[in-house]
Amino acid sequence: MQFATIVEIACRYDKPVRIGVNWGSLDQELAARLMDENARAPEPQSAAAVMHEAMIASALDSAQRAEEIGLGHNRIILSVKMSGVQDLIAVYRKLAARCDYPLHLGLTEAGMGSKGIVASTAALAVLLQEGIGDTLRISLTPEPGGSRSQEVVVAQEILQALGLRSFTPAVVACPGCGRTSSDYFQHLAQDIQAYLRDQMPLWRDRYPGVEELKVAVMGCVVNGPGESKQAHIGISLPGAGEIPVAPVYVDGEKAVTLKGERIAAEFQQIVADYVARRYGRLETGSAAPVGDR
Ligand code: SF4
Repeated sequence: MQFATIVEIACRYDKPVRIGVNWGSLDQELAARLMDENARAPEPQSAAAVMHEAMIASALDSAQRAEEIGLGHNRIILSVKMSGVQDLIAVYRKLAARCDYPLHLGLTEAGMGSKGIVASTAALAVLLQEGIGDTLRISLTPEPGGSRSQEVVVAQEILQALGLRSFTPAVVACPGCGRTSSDYFQHLAQDIQAYLRDQMPLWRDRYPGVEELKVAVMGCVVNGPGESKQAHIGISLPGAGEIPVAPVYVDGEKAVTLKGERIAAEFQQIVADYVARRYGRLETGSAAPVGDR
């Protein structure tokens, strides 16, 4: 009854509807019937496979009912969220093979912190890489007092890491090793990442394409310049026993060597200047390297 009412309202206002099936909302009669049929089959499948089929059948049955009520085929999005990584991958692969509706991806009850992020990423990366999925949601349990926006950041980072869509400039930072003299480069990488993310609401319109920017922050001047040259802008901080200077590369060329207390502030300014020059609406072509200071 509620289903029909919502579909009718969507038809009236010409709105799309996401039809979502999960364990909690699964049609229990359908599940019991499929389990009984499986038990009588000459070669019964596993209980998990039967439940996957029940989820898929429930979603497709609901979509068919929605169309019978009058909802357009192209106004339906399906989701069959599950809490197990392998279950989610298996069920979406089968669903994608059996319909052409857009699919909404999400691992339910993924959990807190790194566990939830890793589980969601593991499941969604496989599906997205196979071209399965049109919208997604990351379901994380926030830390006490934590922000819900972390879900959005993780979703964006998954899409960006897979090269499917860019949302914010990327900071590449080395892991650090015996050459690293302090945790300064980690703080610099973190600060630059936060700075770039904070600027995006302003930069998105002002500097089209800036989300493709790549900044490298490396922990020593032995191996750092190589990675720096691959980025649009890269800085290599002095490692243990190295002269306390930080060479900066812009578009693959050494542009300036920073030293002293204001390395972080000066590097941030170099990034800001580069963005304005390279991505400003009035500018064409790539930026020239900044000169030695
Ligand atoms: S760039 Fe330098 S500090 Fe960073 S991991 Fe490589 S060798 Fe170590």
